[in-house]
Amino acid sequence: MVRTAIYAGSFDPPTNGHLDIVERASGMFDHLIVALGTNTHKTRFLPPEATVEALRTCCEKHANVSVEMFSGLLVNFAQERGSNLLVRGLRAITDFDYEFRIALANKSLWPEVETVFLVSREEYSFLASSVVREVALLGGDYRKFVPDEVAQLIAQRTV
Ligand code: ADP
Repeated sequence: MVRTAIYAGSFDPPTNGHLDIVERASGMFDHLIVALGTNTHKTRFLPPEATVEALRTCCEKHANVSVEMFSGLLVNFAQERGSNLLVRGLRAITDFDYEFRIALANKSLWPEVETVFLVSREEYSFLASSVVREVALLGGDYRKFVPDEVAQLIAQRTV
């Protein structure tokens, strides 16, 4: 049996914290799908297509990781991919309430689904896409928070 897990998020932009979760989760499952959701009504900071390409490059070193875009309900996407395992990262207490609600909502939509939480590394526990966006928009050095491929995309956006 091939165990496929799905790590879904907005990844707007992907950060070193996201990639740390990818690396750790890739060691736990046979196949990990990093799934960029395009549902949100919010205007994105980075275009989804270019973000997926950057994520693919970042994940190349993990042979069992693939990157896809999806829209619609995550549980539907997971079912289509034959996976009932969702990976999420947990940073602080503030993440818990939100993540707990999403996990319960997903379970009520599909009782077989399981959400697996990986606790963030201490050095990334403050790191959020919103922090990177804010630093970038205010002219700060965001490059230490994101992989090079993503820094290039942000640089193109903020020129
Ligand atoms: P969403 O908009 O669905 O919350 P995000 O892209 O913000 O998507 O995050 C995707 C997942 O990655 C979430 O579970 C989030 O808690 C987790 N995550 C984000 N940043 C970090 C980090 N620095 N360390 C660990 N997990 C993180």
